[in-house]
Amino acid sequence: MPVSTSATATGLCAFVDASPSPFHVVRTVAAELAAAGFTELPESRPWADAGVGRYFVVRGGSLVAWAGAAADAAGAFRVVGAHTDSPNLRVKQHVDLAIAGWQMVALEPYGGVLLNSWLDRELGVSGRLTVRSGKGMGHTLVRIDEPLLRVPQLAIHLAEDRRGVTLDPQRHVNAVWGVGDEPRSLLDYVAERAGVAADDVLGWELMTHDLSPSRLVGRDLDLVSAPRLDNQGTCYAGLQAFLAAAESAGAVTPVLAMFDHEEVGSQSERGAQSDLLPAVLERIVLARGGGRSEYLAALAGSVCASGDMAHATHPNYPERHEPLHRIRVNGGPVLKVNQNLRYATDAVGTAAFALACAEAEVPLQRYVHRADLPCGSTIGPMTAARTGMPTVDVGAPQLAMHSARELMGAHDIPAYAAALAAFLTP
Ligand code: ZN
Repeated sequence: MPVSTSATATGLCAFVDASPSPFHVVRTVAAELAAAGFTELPESRPWADAGVGRYFVVRGGSLVAWAGAAADAAGAFRVVGAHTDSPNLRVKQHVDLAIAGWQMVALEPYGGVLLNSWLDRELGVSGRLTVRSGKGMGHTLVRIDEPLLRVPQLAIHLAEDRRGVTLDPQRHVNAVWGVGDEPRSLLDYVAERAGVAADDVLGWELMTHDLSPSRLVGRDLDLVSAPRLDNQGTCYAGLQAFLAAAESAGAVTPVLAMFDHEEVGSQSERGAQSDLLPAVLERIVLARGGGRSEYLAALAGSVCASGDMAHATHPNYPERHEPLHRIRVNGGPVLKVNQNLRYATDAVGTAAFALACAEAEVPLQRYVHRADLPCGSTIGPMTAARTGMPTVDVGAPQLAMHSARELMGAHDIPAYAAALAAFLTP
Protein backbone atom coordinates (compact mmCIF):
# COMPACT_ATOMS: atom_id res chain seq x y z
CA MET A 1 0.00 0.00 0.00
CA PRO A 2 1.40 3.44 -0.90
CA VAL A 3 1.82 5.84 2.04
CA SER A 4 -0.93 8.43 1.62
CA THR A 5 -0.13 12.12 2.06
CA SER A 6 -2.42 15.10 2.45
CA ALA A 7 -0.68 17.16 -0.25
CA THR A 8 -2.98 19.23 -2.47
CA ALA A 9 -2.58 22.15 -4.87
CA THR A 10 -4.62 24.43 -2.62
CA GLY A 11 -2.45 23.36 0.32
CA LEU A 12 0.58 24.40 -1.71
CA CYS A 13 -0.99 27.81 -2.43
CA ALA A 14 -1.57 28.40 1.30
CA PHE A 15 1.99 27.26 2.10
CA VAL A 16 3.53 29.63 -0.46
CA ASP A 17 1.40 32.59 0.58
CA ALA A 18 2.42 32.03 4.21
CA SER A 19 6.12 31.92 3.30
CA PRO A 20 7.50 35.04 1.57
CA SER A 21 11.13 34.54 2.76
CA PRO A 22 13.32 31.52 3.67
CA PHE A 23 12.83 32.43 7.34
CA HIS A 24 9.08 32.27 6.86
CA VAL A 25 9.35 28.93 5.03
CA VAL A 26 11.12 27.58 8.11
CA ARG A 27 8.50 29.09 10.40
CA THR A 28 5.66 27.60 8.34
CA VAL A 29 7.31 24.16 8.35
CA ALA A 30 8.18 24.38 12.06
CA ALA A 31 4.56 25.18 12.92
CA GLU A 32 3.31 22.12 10.99
CA LEU A 33 5.96 19.93 12.60
CA ALA A 34 5.09 21.20 16.09
CA ALA A 35 1.42 20.47 15.42
CA ALA A 36 2.43 16.90 14.50
CA GLY A 37 4.28 16.41 17.79
CA PHE A 38 7.80 17.37 16.76
CA THR A 39 10.07 19.15 19.25
CA GLU A 40 12.65 21.78 18.26
CA LEU A 41 16.13 21.11 19.59
CA PRO A 42 18.65 23.94 20.11
CA GLU A 43 21.98 23.30 18.38
CA SER A 44 23.82 24.88 21.30
CA ARG A 45 22.84 22.16 23.81
CA PRO A 46 23.64 18.41 23.96
CA TRP A 47 20.89 16.14 22.57
CA ALA A 48 20.56 13.31 25.03
CA ASP A 49 17.29 11.78 23.81
CA ALA A 50 17.28 12.79 20.15
CA GLY A 51 17.84 9.31 18.73
CA VAL A 52 14.27 8.11 18.98
CA GLY A 53 11.30 10.43 18.62
CA ARG A 54 10.26 13.44 16.55
CA TYR A 55 12.63 16.38 16.40
CA PHE A 56 13.80 19.26 14.27
CA VAL A 57 16.59 21.83 14.24
CA VAL A 58 16.46 25.36 12.81
CA ARG A 59 19.53 27.23 11.60
CA GLY A 60 18.38 30.59 10.18
CA GLY A 61 16.56 29.87 6.90
CA SER A 62 17.40 26.14 7.07
CA LEU A 63 15.74 23.26 8.93
CA VAL A 64 16.37 19.53 9.44
CA ALA A 65 13.68 17.24 10.87
CA TRP A 66 13.68 13.51 11.61
CA ALA A 67 11.41 10.85 13.01
CA GLY A 68 13.41 8.13 14.72
CA ALA A 69 11.42 4.97 15.39
CA ALA A 70 14.35 2.56 15.86
CA ALA A 71 17.31 2.90 18.20
CA ASP A 72 19.83 0.99 16.04
CA ALA A 73 22.81 3.36 16.11
CA ALA A 74 24.01 2.17 12.68
CA GLY A 75 20.50 2.29 11.18
CA ALA A 76 20.18 3.97 7.79
CA PHE A 77 18.55 7.29 6.89
CA ARG A 78 16.36 8.26 3.97
CA VAL A 79 16.74 11.98 3.29
CA VAL A 80 14.53 14.30 1.25
CA GLY A 81 16.35 17.57 0.60
CA ALA A 82 15.05 20.90 -0.68
CA HIS A 83 15.91 24.58 -0.63
CA THR A 84 13.95 27.34 1.07
CA ASP A 85 15.22 30.36 -0.88
CA SER A 86 14.02 31.76 -4.20
CA PRO A 87 15.44 34.46 -6.47
CA ASN A 88 14.08 37.91 -5.57
CA LEU A 89 14.94 41.58 -5.08
CA ARG A 90 16.57 42.34 -1.74
CA VAL A 91 17.10 45.49 0.31
CA LYS A 92 20.59 47.07 0.29
CA GLN A 93 22.36 48.50 3.37
CA HIS A 94 22.10 52.18 2.42
CA VAL A 95 18.64 51.96 1.03
CA ASP A 96 16.94 55.37 0.88
CA LEU A 97 17.09 57.50 -2.27
CA ALA A 98 15.31 60.55 -3.69
CA ILE A 99 15.44 61.00 -7.48
CA ALA A 100 13.47 63.49 -9.57
CA GLY A 101 10.79 63.94 -6.95
CA TRP A 102 10.47 60.21 -6.21
CA GLN A 103 11.21 58.55 -2.89
CA MET A 104 13.04 55.36 -3.70
CA VAL A 105 14.28 52.14 -2.08
CA ALA A 106 17.57 50.63 -3.33
CA LEU A 107 17.22 46.95 -4.21
CA GLU A 108 19.54 44.33 -5.66
CA PRO A 109 18.88 40.91 -7.18
CA TYR A 110 19.40 37.74 -5.14
CA GLY A 111 20.19 34.72 -7.32
CA GLY A 112 19.26 34.32 -10.98
CA VAL A 113 16.24 36.64 -11.08
CA LEU A 114 14.18 36.99 -14.28
CA LEU A 115 14.23 40.75 -13.74
CA ASN A 116 11.45 41.61 -16.20
CA SER A 117 8.97 39.58 -14.15
CA TRP A 118 9.42 41.86 -11.11
CA LEU A 119 8.37 45.04 -12.89
CA ASP A 120 4.99 46.71 -12.31
CA ARG A 121 4.05 44.45 -9.40
CA GLU A 122 2.89 45.52 -5.96
CA LEU A 123 5.59 44.33 -3.59
CA GLY A 124 5.63 43.75 0.15
CA VAL A 125 8.68 43.38 2.40
CA SER A 126 9.70 40.42 4.54
CA GLY A 127 12.71 38.83 6.20
CA ARG A 128 14.38 39.14 9.56
CA LEU A 129 15.87 41.87 11.71
CA THR A 130 18.71 41.28 14.14
CA VAL A 131 17.94 43.51 17.09
CA ARG A 132 19.87 44.64 20.17
CA SER A 133 18.61 42.81 23.24
CA GLY A 134 20.30 43.81 26.49
CA LYS A 135 24.00 43.30 25.81
CA GLY A 136 23.28 40.66 23.19
CA MET A 137 20.99 40.31 20.21
CA GLY A 138 17.89 38.55 19.03
CA HIS A 139 16.04 37.97 15.78
CA THR A 140 12.64 39.28 14.80
CA LEU A 141 10.80 38.04 11.73
CA VAL A 142 9.06 40.77 9.82
CA ARG A 143 6.43 40.63 7.14
CA ILE A 144 4.59 43.55 5.59
CA ASP A 145 1.87 42.38 3.20
CA GLU A 146 1.01 45.82 1.92
CA PRO A 147 1.73 47.33 -1.50
CA LEU A 148 4.71 49.34 -0.32
CA LEU A 149 7.03 49.09 -3.29
CA ARG A 150 6.87 49.02 -7.07
CA VAL A 151 9.60 48.81 -9.71
CA PRO A 152 8.10 50.69 -12.68
CA GLN A 153 8.87 49.81 -16.27
CA LEU A 154 10.12 52.34 -18.77
CA ALA A 155 7.38 53.44 -21.17
CA ILE A 156 7.73 51.84 -24.58
CA HIS A 157 7.98 55.31 -26.17
CA LEU A 158 11.18 55.93 -24.20
CA ALA A 159 12.83 52.59 -24.95
CA GLU A 160 15.74 52.37 -27.36
CA ASP A 161 13.73 50.04 -29.49
CA ARG A 162 10.08 49.15 -29.22
CA ARG A 163 10.71 45.65 -27.96
CA GLY A 164 11.66 47.06 -24.56
CA VAL A 165 14.86 47.60 -22.62
CA THR A 166 17.67 45.42 -21.41
CA LEU A 167 17.48 45.55 -17.62
CA ASP A 168 20.58 46.46 -15.64
CA PRO A 169 20.58 44.95 -12.11
CA GLN A 170 22.39 48.02 -10.72
CA ARG A 171 20.28 50.79 -12.28
CA HIS A 172 16.87 49.40 -13.16
CA VAL A 173 15.48 47.54 -10.14
CA ASN A 174 15.16 50.29 -7.52
CA ALA A 175 11.59 50.67 -6.27
CA VAL A 176 9.43 53.75 -5.78
CA TRP A 177 7.50 54.00 -2.52
CA GLY A 178 6.48 57.63 -2.36
CA VAL A 179 6.72 61.13 -3.74
CA GLY A 180 8.89 63.95 -2.40
CA ASP A 181 12.37 65.39 -2.55
CA GLU A 182 13.55 64.04 0.82
CA PRO A 183 14.40 60.33 1.13
CA ARG A 184 12.34 58.54 3.81
CA SER A 185 13.82 55.73 5.90
CA LEU A 186 12.59 52.27 4.91
CA LEU A 187 14.39 50.78 7.90
CA ASP A 188 12.57 53.12 10.32
CA TYR A 189 9.30 52.12 8.72
CA VAL A 190 10.07 48.39 8.90
CA ALA A 191 11.29 48.66 12.51
CA GLU A 192 8.09 50.42 13.53
CA ARG A 193 5.98 47.77 11.83
CA ALA A 194 8.02 45.05 13.55
CA GLY A 195 7.49 46.73 16.92
CA VAL A 196 11.16 47.40 17.62
CA ALA A 197 13.11 50.65 18.08
CA ALA A 198 14.89 51.64 14.85
CA ASP A 199 18.10 52.35 16.81
CA ASP A 200 18.12 48.75 18.03
CA VAL A 201 18.15 47.26 14.52
CA LEU A 202 21.73 46.10 14.03
CA GLY A 203 21.40 43.98 10.90
CA TRP A 204 18.76 42.81 8.44
CA GLU A 205 18.03 40.34 5.69
CA LEU A 206 15.04 41.95 4.00
CA MET A 207 13.51 41.09 0.65
CA THR A 208 10.47 41.85 -1.46
CA HIS A 209 7.56 39.63 -2.43
CA ASP A 210 4.74 39.88 -4.95
CA LEU A 211 1.42 40.36 -3.16
CA SER A 212 -0.84 38.61 -5.70
CA PRO A 213 -2.18 35.49 -4.01
CA SER A 214 -1.32 32.06 -5.39
CA ARG A 215 -4.20 30.48 -7.26
CA LEU A 216 -5.39 27.67 -9.49
CA VAL A 217 -5.67 28.75 -13.12
CA GLY A 218 -6.55 27.40 -16.56
CA ARG A 219 -9.78 26.13 -18.12
CA ASP A 220 -9.78 23.07 -15.88
CA LEU A 221 -8.11 24.80 -12.91
CA ASP A 222 -5.40 22.17 -13.10
CA LEU A 223 -2.47 24.60 -13.02
CA VAL A 224 -0.96 26.48 -10.06
CA SER A 225 0.13 30.09 -10.61
CA ALA A 226 2.32 31.19 -7.70
CA PRO A 227 5.60 32.81 -6.70
CA ARG A 228 8.54 30.76 -5.36
CA LEU A 229 7.39 27.36 -6.67
CA ASP A 230 11.14 26.81 -7.11
CA ASN A 231 11.55 25.48 -4.53
CA GLN A 232 8.57 25.82 -2.20
CA GLY A 233 6.83 23.26 -4.43
CA THR A 234 9.33 20.76 -3.02
CA CYS A 235 9.30 22.23 0.50
CA TYR A 236 5.54 21.68 0.65
CA ALA A 237 5.47 18.25 -1.05
CA GLY A 238 8.52 17.16 0.96
CA LEU A 239 6.94 18.24 4.24
CA GLN A 240 3.69 16.40 3.51
CA ALA A 241 5.68 13.33 2.46
CA PHE A 242 7.80 13.51 5.61
CA LEU A 243 4.77 13.86 7.90
CA ALA A 244 3.19 10.79 6.27
CA ALA A 245 6.46 8.84 6.47
CA ALA A 246 6.83 9.71 10.16
CA GLU A 247 3.58 7.83 10.81
CA SER A 248 4.91 4.61 9.31
CA ALA A 249 8.63 4.93 9.99
CA GLY A 250 10.40 1.62 10.60
CA ALA A 251 14.06 0.64 10.75
CA VAL A 252 15.04 3.44 8.36
CA THR A 253 14.86 7.00 9.76
CA PRO A 254 13.13 9.53 7.48
CA VAL A 255 14.83 12.94 7.37
CA LEU A 256 13.68 16.25 5.86
CA ALA A 257 16.55 18.66 5.11
CA MET A 258 15.75 22.15 3.86
CA PHE A 259 18.55 24.56 3.05
CA ASP A 260 18.82 28.29 2.50
CA HIS A 261 21.18 29.88 -0.06
CA GLU A 262 20.85 27.32 -2.89
CA GLU A 263 20.20 30.07 -5.42
CA VAL A 264 23.57 31.68 -4.67
CA GLY A 265 25.77 28.58 -4.44
CA SER A 266 24.94 27.06 -1.00
CA GLN A 267 28.25 28.11 0.55
CA SER A 268 27.28 29.53 3.94
CA GLU A 269 26.85 28.44 7.54
CA ARG A 270 23.36 27.12 6.71
CA GLY A 271 23.63 26.22 3.00
CA ALA A 272 23.91 22.71 1.61
CA GLN A 273 27.71 23.00 1.64
CA SER A 274 27.65 23.62 5.41
CA ASP A 275 28.00 20.99 8.13
CA LEU A 276 24.29 21.21 9.00
CA LEU A 277 23.09 17.86 7.62
CA PRO A 278 26.15 15.74 8.55
CA ALA A 279 26.26 17.33 12.02
CA VAL A 280 22.59 16.54 12.68
CA LEU A 281 22.90 12.96 11.39
CA GLU A 282 26.00 12.35 13.51
CA ARG A 283 24.30 13.73 16.60
CA ILE A 284 21.33 11.40 16.02
CA VAL A 285 23.71 8.43 15.89
CA LEU A 286 25.52 9.65 19.04
CA ALA A 287 22.21 10.05 20.86
CA ARG A 288 21.46 6.41 19.99
CA GLY A 289 24.64 5.38 21.75
CA GLY A 290 26.74 4.97 18.61
CA GLY A 291 30.13 6.43 17.77
CA ARG A 292 32.00 7.45 14.65
CA SER A 293 31.98 3.91 13.27
CA GLU A 294 28.20 3.58 13.63
CA TYR A 295 27.77 7.02 12.04
CA LEU A 296 29.79 6.05 8.98
CA ALA A 297 27.96 2.73 8.77
CA ALA A 298 24.61 4.56 8.92
CA LEU A 299 25.64 6.88 6.09
CA ALA A 300 26.82 3.96 3.98
CA GLY A 301 23.31 2.49 4.03
CA SER A 302 21.49 5.78 3.42
CA VAL A 303 20.08 7.40 0.27
CA CYS A 304 19.16 11.04 -0.43
CA ALA A 305 16.55 12.46 -2.80
CA SER A 306 17.43 16.06 -3.63
CA GLY A 307 14.13 17.67 -4.55
CA ASP A 308 14.10 20.76 -6.73
CA MET A 309 11.75 21.88 -9.44
CA ALA A 310 12.20 20.66 -13.01
CA HIS A 311 11.65 22.26 -16.41
CA ALA A 312 8.47 21.27 -18.20
CA THR A 313 8.73 21.54 -21.98
CA HIS A 314 7.77 25.11 -22.88
CA PRO A 315 5.12 25.22 -25.63
CA ASN A 316 6.46 28.47 -27.11
CA TYR A 317 10.09 27.33 -27.05
CA PRO A 318 10.04 23.55 -27.62
CA GLU A 319 13.39 23.82 -29.46
CA ARG A 320 15.06 24.88 -26.19
CA HIS A 321 14.48 21.39 -24.81
CA GLU A 322 16.19 18.06 -25.45
CA PRO A 323 13.95 16.51 -28.11
CA LEU A 324 14.02 12.98 -26.65
CA HIS A 325 13.16 14.18 -23.13
CA ARG A 326 9.86 16.02 -23.34
CA ILE A 327 8.47 16.75 -19.86
CA ARG A 328 4.73 17.20 -19.36
CA VAL A 329 3.06 19.24 -16.67
CA ASN A 330 0.68 17.00 -14.70
CA GLY A 331 2.72 14.09 -16.06
CA GLY A 332 4.30 13.02 -12.76
CA PRO A 333 7.58 13.52 -10.89
CA VAL A 334 10.79 14.12 -12.83
CA LEU A 335 14.13 12.35 -12.53
CA LYS A 336 16.97 14.74 -13.43
CA VAL A 337 20.17 13.36 -14.93
CA ASN A 338 23.28 15.28 -16.01
CA GLN A 339 26.47 13.57 -17.19
CA ASN A 340 28.54 16.50 -15.92
CA LEU A 341 26.99 16.11 -12.45
CA ARG A 342 25.14 19.38 -12.27
CA TYR A 343 22.61 16.89 -10.87
CA ALA A 344 23.92 14.22 -8.49
CA THR A 345 21.74 11.41 -9.87
CA ASP A 346 23.48 8.06 -10.31
CA ALA A 347 22.04 4.66 -11.15
CA VAL A 348 21.65 3.68 -7.47
CA GLY A 349 19.69 6.81 -6.61
CA THR A 350 17.69 6.43 -9.81
CA ALA A 351 16.71 2.92 -8.84
CA ALA A 352 15.62 4.03 -5.35
CA PHE A 353 13.38 6.75 -6.80
CA ALA A 354 12.03 4.54 -9.60
CA LEU A 355 11.02 1.99 -6.96
CA ALA A 356 9.38 4.77 -4.92
CA CYS A 357 7.34 5.97 -7.92
CA ALA A 358 6.24 2.40 -8.63
CA GLU A 359 5.25 1.96 -4.97
CA ALA A 360 3.34 5.26 -5.04
CA GLU A 361 1.73 4.31 -8.36
CA VAL A 362 2.78 7.52 -10.10
CA PRO A 363 4.52 7.83 -13.49
CA LEU A 364 8.19 8.85 -13.62
CA GLN A 365 9.49 11.27 -16.26
CA ARG A 366 13.21 11.39 -17.11
CA TYR A 367 14.83 14.76 -17.84
CA VAL A 368 18.08 15.59 -19.59
CA HIS A 369 19.09 19.19 -20.38
CA ARG A 370 20.14 20.10 -23.92
CA ALA A 371 23.87 19.36 -24.21
CA ASP A 372 24.48 22.76 -25.82
CA LEU A 373 22.87 24.78 -23.01
CA PRO A 374 24.27 25.32 -19.49
CA CYS A 375 22.38 23.23 -16.96
CA GLY A 376 21.37 24.65 -13.56
CA SER A 377 22.33 22.79 -10.41
CA THR A 378 20.79 21.81 -7.07
CA ILE A 379 21.76 20.93 -3.52
CA GLY A 380 22.18 17.29 -4.63
CA PRO A 381 25.86 17.30 -5.62
CA MET A 382 26.75 19.09 -2.36
CA THR A 383 24.86 16.85 0.04
CA ALA A 384 26.20 13.83 -1.87
CA ALA A 385 29.77 15.09 -1.47
CA ARG A 386 29.26 16.03 2.20
CA THR A 387 27.68 12.72 3.25
CA GLY A 388 28.78 10.11 0.69
CA MET A 389 25.16 9.07 0.19
CA PRO A 390 23.96 7.89 -3.20
CA THR A 391 21.76 10.76 -4.33
CA VAL A 392 18.99 11.25 -6.84
CA ASP A 393 17.91 14.64 -8.14
CA VAL A 394 14.17 14.80 -8.62
CA GLY A 395 11.49 17.44 -9.02
CA ALA A 396 8.06 18.40 -10.27
CA PRO A 397 7.68 20.07 -13.68
CA GLN A 398 7.10 23.79 -14.01
CA LEU A 399 7.40 26.70 -16.43
CA ALA A 400 8.93 30.15 -15.88
CA MET A 401 11.49 29.04 -13.30
CA HIS A 402 12.94 32.10 -11.46
CA SER A 403 10.09 34.36 -12.55
CA ALA A 404 8.26 36.34 -9.87
CA ARG A 405 5.29 34.21 -10.91
CA GLU A 406 5.80 30.55 -11.83
CA LEU A 407 3.47 27.87 -13.18
CA MET A 408 3.13 24.17 -12.38
CA GLY A 409 0.56 21.38 -12.56
CA ALA A 410 -2.00 20.99 -9.76
CA HIS A 411 -1.97 17.18 -10.09
CA ASP A 412 1.80 17.02 -9.86
CA ILE A 413 1.75 18.09 -6.22
CA PRO A 414 0.03 15.00 -4.75
CA ALA A 415 1.96 12.75 -7.16
CA TYR A 416 5.30 14.32 -6.16
CA ALA A 417 4.47 14.07 -2.45
CA ALA A 418 3.38 10.44 -2.82
CA ALA A 419 6.65 9.54 -4.56
CA LEU A 420 8.71 11.29 -1.87
CA ALA A 421 6.71 9.59 0.90
CA ALA A 422 7.37 6.20 -0.68
CA PHE A 423 11.07 7.10 -1.00
CA LEU A 424 11.20 7.95 2.73
CA THR A 425 9.63 4.60 3.73
CA PRO A 426 11.54 1.92 1.77
ZN1 ZN B 1 15.63 25.45 -7.23
